[in-house]
Amino acid sequence: MIKLNGIRDKLWEVKQLAYKITDECIACGACEAECPVDAISAGDDKYIIDPDTCIECGACANVCPVDAPQPE
Ligand code: SF4
Ligand code: SF4
Repeated sequence: MIKLNGIRDKLWEVKQLAYKITDECIACGACEAECPVDAISAGDDKYIIDPDTCIECGACANVCPVDAPQPE
């Protein structure tokens, strides 16, 4: 059981990896349409990524004009 818990904790750590949109975001919206899993949405002053949904594909970073999405 201890071993299984260790594996579960490791998977949880892996799942925590996600892209995050920095304050550089100019809210152009280009990334939202590119995300294959709809993890991106408009926030108050910038776009935001749902870390539980993001699969770290990098598509948002590829289209962003200001390099705002960064891997955490
Ligand atoms: S890295 Fe991929 S899955 Fe994650 S928010 Fe960007 S486009 Fe969506
Ligand atoms: S593409 Fe870049 S600047 Fe445009 S909304 Fe997404 S993160 Fe912000």
